[in-house]
Amino acid sequence: MSSKYKIGNSILEILTGDITLQDTDVIVNAANNALVPGGGVDGAIHRAAGPELKDECETLGGCETGEAKITRGYNLAAPYVIHTVGPVYSGRVSDPGDLERSYLNSLSVASSNGLKSISFPSISTGAFGYPVKEAAVIALKSITGYLKNHPDIELVRMVLFSDRDYQVYRSTMERIIIT
Ligand code: ADP
Repeated sequence: MSSKYKIGNSILEILTGDITLQDTDVIVNAANNALVPGGGVDGAIHRAAGPELKDECETLGGCETGEAKITRGYNLAAPYVIHTVGPVYSGRVSDPGDLERSYLNSLSVASSNGLKSISFPSISTGAFGYPVKEAAVIALKSITGYLKNHPDIELVRMVLFSDRDYQVYRSTMERIIIT
């Protein structure tokens, strides 16, 4: 399943799929603060990229929540990986801002490296427990806001692992377009 939206001169595509298979210039990893291989998206990306990804991650000195760091993609179709750490959902007022910073800093790292297409997973909504409906609003507002001001990014893919998450993101996007 897939839906495409034009944001300025850029395309935002919402689709079901596997983040590790995306052929964009960069894929985003929902990483942890230590940047050590974990489960979910992180485990899948490390398995698909091969052991050199772990070796490069060890040189980075971890990653603060909301920040983003770039590595090569090794055996992945995507030449680069941007590792970002979303918030562990706590119900605190800081959660939405931390999640927004994960998306915006990832996009900013892509721009500063001259990358034009980027794929995101649904950051924080797996092991980190962020409710998908709330996370979708933050993700899509962050991405559309960035694209309006940064036409250098030509394509953003929001890659959802389940049909249910796809429907949440798609219906959230329809609401954002109207309002
Ligand atoms: P976090 O720790 O940030 O919550 P997770 O990796 O646990 O990250 O989960 C984030 C989302 O990514 C969840 O919705 C999960 O189902 C989904 N997911 C897991 N594996 C993949 C994959 N290979 N491609 C895309 N999405 C995935």
